[in-house]
Amino acid sequence: MGKRAGALAGMSKPSRLLRLSKASLGPAEHKAVQRPLERAFLGMGSEVRAFEEELATYLGRPVVCVVNGTAALQLALQACGIGRGDEVLVPSLTYVASFQAIAATGATPVACDIREDSCTLDSADAGRRLTARARAVMPVHYAGGVGTLDEVCTFAAEHGLRVVEDAAHAFGSTHRGVPVGGSGDIACFSFDGIKNITSGEGGCVVSDDATVLARVRDARLLGVENDTAARFSSQRSWDFDVTAQGWRYHMSDIMAAIGRVQLGRRAELAARRQALAQQYVEALRGHAEIRPVLQSFDTVVPHIFPVRIIGLRDRDGLRRVLRERGIETGVHYRPNHTLSYFTRPGQAPLPVTERVYAELLTLPLHPDLTATDIGFICDALNAALV
Ligand SMILES: *Cc1c(COP(=O)(O)O)cnc(C)c1O
Repeated sequence: MGKRAGALAGMSKPSRLLRLSKASLGPAEHKAVQRPLERAFLGMGSEVRAFEEELATYLGRPVVCVVNGTAALQLALQACGIGRGDEVLVPSLTYVASFQAIAATGATPVACDIREDSCTLDSADAGRRLTARARAVMPVHYAGGVGTLDEVCTFAAEHGLRVVEDAAHAFGSTHRGVPVGGSGDIACFSFDGIKNITSGEGGCVVSDDATVLARVRDARLLGVENDTAARFSSQRSWDFDVTAQGWRYHMSDIMAAIGRVQLGRRAELAARRQALAQQYVEALRGHAEIRPVLQSFDTVVPHIFPVRIIGLRDRDGLRRVLRERGIETGVHYRPNHTLSYFTRPGQAPLPVTERVYAELLTLPLHPDLTATDIGFICDALNAALV
């Protein structure tokens, strides 16, 4: 069967562009953002404090909010004392944010291969790339699924590594009956404009390790010690000490005001994503070559909907045909070990990543899509692949 994009004569086109990803915002978000504006307090204050408390209630652990998910990953690693000369094991198939966050600490990201079934870190491959310089492993919850997280944690425990989960895709997913981030060592979320919940930009670090969180709290405010407490009561510190590298990575009250509404809508937004993804799985079942990376959404809140198209030869052509039908698609992700900045001489091959990457295509998924939209997309994809 030819996998080149075929003609789609006679198919109707939806009246709007079906976007790949998009925030779902309502009147409550519009209203909430007025609060900090009316108070004329736009920095880190009472809204951030409340957002942290509400997140902690949901996740069951203390939370520190920062300016984005990349900063959360960087500060979490820094708080573990990871830096120059250290290595962090990370799947190559992730957003470049994971790699840049590691590199920002001075440490070296070591690109690892993935499991074919879930596109998440293969801990056996990570084991083969392990050196005495390795200090942490960063599993990435691709599309919202945690893959074999328990295996990764066992591997880390055996080798004395920290586990910093890149949970940017997985807000709302559960693992062993508790929300992702509610167990394990350290988890980092992103609340950027297209993630499962958004605060415009934003992110957070979640952990039971009080030392790590205290360091992240200071590091987000230029390293000014204990400044968070002052800011949460509308003050700031004037007489302070700085003992570590800090960054200007705090979250603003404008962001937190939006995030609090989205957190309140968490269940509704998650149910929408789950229902749409389930519909994709059923509609694509008849097409043996199209294999959704995730098939079941009982414990997964899907952030994206990647499919693997077995034998796909002309992805660009297929994407063009779909775009002409008003369907925006994506490719998650160009493997990081192929990027000039992160290619390492003598790097052992990553055969699964390269094989899977060549066949990946991401279909639109966000809460404002309808069942009709999903049906239209599946028809267009099926027709294009005949
Ligand atoms: C979005 C994302 C990040 C970074 O989050 P930002 O808030 O955009 O900085 C990290 N890792 C993955 C896999 C992501 O998708």
